Amino acid sequence: ASGFAGKRVFIAGHRGMAGSAIARLLAREDCDVLTMSRSELDLRDQAATRAFMAAARPDMVFLCAGTVGGILANDRYPADFIYDNIAIATNVIHAAHLSGVTKLLYLGSSCIYPKHAAQPMSEDLLLTGPLEPTNEWYAVAKIAGIKMCDAYRRQHGSDFVSVMPTNLFGPGDNYHPEHGHVAAALIRRFHEAKRDGAPSVAIWGTGTPRREFLYADDLADACLFVMRTWSGPGFINVGSGEDIAIGDFARMVADTVGYQGELVFDTSRPDGTPRKLLDVSRLDRLGWRAATSLRDGLRLAYADFLAGGGRNR
Ligand code: GDP
Repeated sequence: ASGFAGKRVFIAGHRGMAGSAIARLLAREDCDVLTMSRSELDLRDQAATRAFMAAARPDMVFLCAGTVGGILANDRYPADFIYDNIAIATNVIHAAHLSGVTKLLYLGSSCIYPKHAAQPMSEDLLLTGPLEPTNEWYAVAKIAGIKMCDAYRRQHGSDFVSVMPTNLFGPGDNYHPEHGHVAAALIRRFHEAKRDGAPSVAIWGTGTPRREFLYADDLADACLFVMRTWSGPGFINVGSGEDIAIGDFARMVADTVGYQGELVFDTSRPDGTPRKLLDVSRLDRLGWRAATSLRDGLRLAYADFLAGGGRNR
């Protein structure tokens, strides 16, 4: 049995990078996938969210909806990041409880960990130190979501679990030049520089921060795996287990796109947290490992960009 057979499964945020990857995988399962576009249902609206859940009666929920963005968007729109993400978590989790959802998976983020957490970061480092200021608004909202799942488990016995994905990239990413995350931003910037014959491309920051990257379809696979097999308080990290300096990552993106000019580091832009690598041993022990190499993932992501995938805002 797949665990999904005959179930009604709601993907909140099915147009986003994580949600759309989960939707692609669930399409192969024998279940009813429920989705709502943002114009049909604003998950920040408590009454609308409750009414939808009461009428749709999903058995399972993947909670992937959220206001997300890169280091600059987080800094520029702190109110949106904290309000939207807390509202979505509180509305969907509470409505899931009221409408009898039997299992819910909440997607957090690796930015929940303290700025100077020991690396790689294991699950028990949550709330052991101050957050990285460039994304603390988002991080606080995500921590609230995790704690809500734990609280509903404790008080109501709800089987609500959380996963913490590392930095994602892949099909359906946001290719906005300023608001997106590093992978999508650089795919676009190198593509345009190649097209225009630009002699150099700017990389934000010093190039020395280290980040771990996970291909979106690998995250989706991990989400289905956790939904099927794991239950408990707390949460599970999901990553590739490897990190790379942003400068080296930028060179890899340039190679993927076929750009041969120079890379210039713009140190007037923020570096963010110095290193973000998840300890993925917990998921590894459960029997899951990422399948897509960074190079292969970047090739697939660039193909998505060329095909006009993703968003741009
Ligand atoms: P973060 O992991 O929350 O810091 O998210 P980002 O993906 O936005 O940034 C990761 C790292 O890439 C940071 O050190 C950025 O300074 C660096 N970076 C380099 N160029 C870019 C860019 O064009 N866009 C973004 N978002 N980050 C960049």
